[in-house]
Amino acid sequence: MKFFPGVLLLLLLQCSMHVQAQRNCGTTEYMQRLIKADPSINNSLNKTAALTTAVAGQHPAAKDIAFNDIINVPVVIHIMYNTADQNISLDQIQSQLIALNNDYSNLNADKINTPPVFAALAADTKIRFCLAQVDPQGRKTSGIVRKYSNRDAFSPDDAVKYSAQGGDDGWDCKRYLNIWVCNMGSRTLGYSSLPGGPSATDGVVISFDVFGTTGNVRSPFDKGRTATHEIGHWLGLKHIWGDAICGSDEVDDTPVQQYYNYGCPSFPHVSNCSPDGNGDMYMNFMDFTNDACMSLFTNGQKIRMRALFATGNVRNSFLTSFACDSTLASAGPLPPTDTIATVKQVIEVKVYPNPMQSSAVVEYLGALKSLSVKTINIYTVTGNKIYSATFNTAKTSVNVAGFAKGVYIFTVEEGTNRYTKKMIKE
Ligand SMILES: [Zn+2]
Repeated sequence: MKFFPGVLLLLLLQCSMHVQAQRNCGTTEYMQRLIKADPSINNSLNKTAALTTAVAGQHPAAKDIAFNDIINVPVVIHIMYNTADQNISLDQIQSQLIALNNDYSNLNADKINTPPVFAALAADTKIRFCLAQVDPQGRKTSGIVRKYSNRDAFSPDDAVKYSAQGGDDGWDCKRYLNIWVCNMGSRTLGYSSLPGGPSATDGVVISFDVFGTTGNVRSPFDKGRTATHEIGHWLGLKHIWGDAICGSDEVDDTPVQQYYNYGCPSFPHVSNCSPDGNGDMYMNFMDFTNDACMSLFTNGQKIRMRALFATGNVRNSFLTSFACDSTLASAGPLPPTDTIATVKQVIEVKVYPNPMQSSAVVEYLGALKSLSVKTINIYTVTGNKIYSATFNTAKTSVNVAGFAKGVYIFTVEEGTNRYTKKMIKE
């Protein structure tokens, strides 16, 4: 009888281990269901995956975008709430953006926990996320939509992505990453669409209680890694075990592993198909471990994610989204919808030729053909101002001979009026 308390303690310990929450990502099952309902989706997914593999193989010669240029991804957060808890605070939302940018920059403080042999493979993806500053109509926005829903929970069936089904319609997926935050109401922490899937449902869905690092977040998913992981899928990454026993994630520098890991293993965790004694890269963001035990994307994953932004691939349009740049929003407070057309008519500016070679002409027409002082600013696609000048004539010329080939944003301002034009330098 003496050993009895010890046995009880063991049983209790085992029970508590089983009760501890395990990560559950709904992406694989979600996509399988979509394909079953519409097999043609598979063609588009496979085509995108093949193009991505081809471009990644050409690295670093991906057209349009140098390997280490910053890619800015404007994000719109749709907060769908049924209770006050689910209507998470601005602090909680911002904490998620900070966590995302740290993780995708390899600036996460807990990277010191990555075993050195794997830390050597860790990458700054040079992909950054911002709350959208410009909405699809060109107006200023916070990048956050809050909406009450009479549904108390959503499942991975995409209802959250449709206003007509108690959710909220997505913004243009060619220019914005849509993130729906809602009560997932089950073990699933989140799920993502895959590149090449249907436009209307493109984006990721995350449960409100695993979104961000502060506020209504629950351990052990309280470091924002559910969003880091799901956006990894949105950027074309597979689970690190390749969703099969000893499967392939199509990334060269992530070791083959038998299956997923959960909780928090200790290094090394060797499985049947480990290539060497270092075992699984269980601390990769694309495994199923707890938030506190994840710490890196690899260089190979970076190449694969960035390949999606190459010419002809599905995220290429993000290079000219510009919605991270608040200076490109129409000036002043939101105009009532019925006055937008009037505001636009006031500003009549031409910039030409487009594409431009050595110079660009900026010409005022109509109401603005005055002698007042006007400012012209030119920005790179990443929002850096590279030129600024004022003038008070109706027409002026800007020397662009020294500009690198690529896309530029011209803004012309007079008082509170602003005109914006995308220009190509050849
Ligand atoms: Zn996943």
